Amino acid sequence: MADIIQLLPDHVANQIAAGEVVQRPASVVKELLENAIDAKATSITLVIKDAGKTLVQVTDNGIGMSVTDARLSFERHATSKIKSAEDLFNLHTKGFRGEALASIAAIAHVELKTKTEDSEIGTHLTIEGSKVISQDPAVVPKGTTISVKNLFYNIPARRNFLKSNPVETRHIIDEFHRVALAHPTVAFQMLHNGSDVFNLPSSNSRQRIVNIFGSKTNEKLVPVSEETEILKIEGFVLKPEFGKKSRGEQFFFVNDRFIKSPYLHHAVSSAFEGLMKNDVHPGYFLFLEVDPHSIDINIHPTKTEIKFDDEHSIYAMLRATVKHSLGQFNIAPVLDFERDKGFDTPYDYNKKQPTAPSIEVDREFNPFKEKPKQGNINFPFKREQSAAWESLYVGLKDETATVSNLEDIEFESEEVTGSLFENSEAESGQITFQIQNKYIVSPLKNGMMVIHQNLAHQRILYEELLKNITVKEAVSQQLLFPLQLHFSRPDLEIIEKVREQLEHTGFIFSEIKDETIEISGIPVLILESHVVNLLSQLVYDIKEEVPDSGFSQNDMLAKSMAASMAIKTGISLNREEREHLINQLFACKEPSVSPRNKLVFTTMDVSDLDKKFM
Ligand code: ADP
Ligand code: MG
Repeated sequence: MADIIQLLPDHVANQIAAGEVVQRPASVVKELLENAIDAKATSITLVIKDAGKTLVQVTDNGIGMSVTDARLSFERHATSKIKSAEDLFNLHTKGFRGEALASIAAIAHVELKTKTEDSEIGTHLTIEGSKVISQDPAVVPKGTTISVKNLFYNIPARRNFLKSNPVETRHIIDEFHRVALAHPTVAFQMLHNGSDVFNLPSSNSRQRIVNIFGSKTNEKLVPVSEETEILKIEGFVLKPEFGKKSRGEQFFFVNDRFIKSPYLHHAVSSAFEGLMKNDVHPGYFLFLEVDPHSIDINIHPTKTEIKFDDEHSIYAMLRATVKHSLGQFNIAPVLDFERDKGFDTPYDYNKKQPTAPSIEVDREFNPFKEKPKQGNINFPFKREQSAAWESLYVGLKDETATVSNLEDIEFESEEVTGSLFENSEAESGQITFQIQNKYIVSPLKNGMMVIHQNLAHQRILYEELLKNITVKEAVSQQLLFPLQLHFSRPDLEIIEKVREQLEHTGFIFSEIKDETIEISGIPVLILESHVVNLLSQLVYDIKEEVPDSGFSQNDMLAKSMAASMAIKTGISLNREEREHLINQLFACKEPSVSPRNKLVFTTMDVSDLDKKFM
């Protein structure tokens, strides 16, 4: 038999290789962006047309290529990044296989413009299906622009396999995110069909995340940081309540390279154990740094998988570090109710023989009250002084006036774990007060805390409602006369959809039909007269909900109801109510932000105050 084996022509070999490296326009985006990073660019622009099917173009201000290198860069196994096999174990660049440009040029119309810093003139080269069409000198700025047009023009089967434009665009944006997150100091811009998609200035890691995922992300981030001999971890995890049903923002970077690792993902997930429901996934942006010798990146052609020498230690460290960060962030600011009691004691007492302290304190004392009870007050202010002080707060409502409508609002009381006011309040004559029936002020060890009453109550109710909806154990108040409410048919359908969850919060619907709902029981936390508003608001919120916003329906239900039910601004609270609210707030999982991500309280310490008097 005659010899039948022959070497494949280059362009065929390249096409086959391309099948591995280039699956879709997003693969081209990844390779070109990584080349720009490797070329030390500080500013990179990505332009795409028709989800990359017509054009993917990357412009950088990096080192550029000489005339010869420009030509060579499209040869297979042509790379400036490694010289020997040893270099494979000491990689500091994204690329090293020298395949990307050769592969891309085999299956598209490619145009390259490039110039190095010290050459006067640059190069303009065009290649189609691995064939060089032209190479001419050109006047171009320092750096490189590569345009990849008509991807898969010569492999119709591959082209037909591409997904719809929105899907392919999504893939491109994913790749763009990965590179942009790994290199926050590099400025990135992305345009699609002529309009701006991203414009990311050079910044730090936190700002980059916020610039990409939106300003609300900032308050969701919990910093993570740890350094050991074999591993350095920096980055952020999203607070547990921002976990998503769908895999959302999950990013591992090892030595600035995005990687996928189910194993490390497991390490992070297990650190969240007990803080999230089972079907919810944590979000994270974690940057790991290891000695390049201790990893092997080479096991996957697109280089998104790597192998660690010491996987087990890395798993354990990652898990412990994330756990630690989550634990730290959970600590609420410590209120100062352990104030040194000697502070309230007259000076001459200091000289007396120490006896068991027996300081009497008026539990009812409040400097803003008209007439503190006489007799048993042990407080460093004389009454006249306190009156003068009071005049600073004209307009502050007299607390002794009876609180009217609040009597109606039921506070849950057994829920509170570890009351912050127990004992300590009685002993120190602790005070809280309200400003404009809107803010509650409470002293801290070295300053004060100002709490927004409405937002605080929303947080409390939200956590309570969410628990009820998921654990299904809320109590109902039976109505003597069932409520009949009227809704349009479409609105009624919406209520019908969330009926089950509403029932978990304590609603009892005896009938839903035509355009009427009959309600025979309501949650204990609300007033009968508020039910119509609550349901209308809920229907409105559900209609307005951004589809695919990633939040579960339960979550949005709890948010909407909490907003309707919370104590409003303008309602005066008596001392007990204020303290109860504070106690409940700090029994919450996350007291510092409202369900809709607004700040619930702020603190001011003495140094902040000092600044005002400078
Ligand atoms: P690799 O990145 O694996 O080396 P590529 O095919 O992606 O292989 O690129 C081949 C070579 O072309 C690179 O090693 C580099 O020298 C050069 N190159 C590619 N893109 C750029 C760029 N944007 N700026 C400067 N040089 C580049
Ligand atoms: Mg490359």
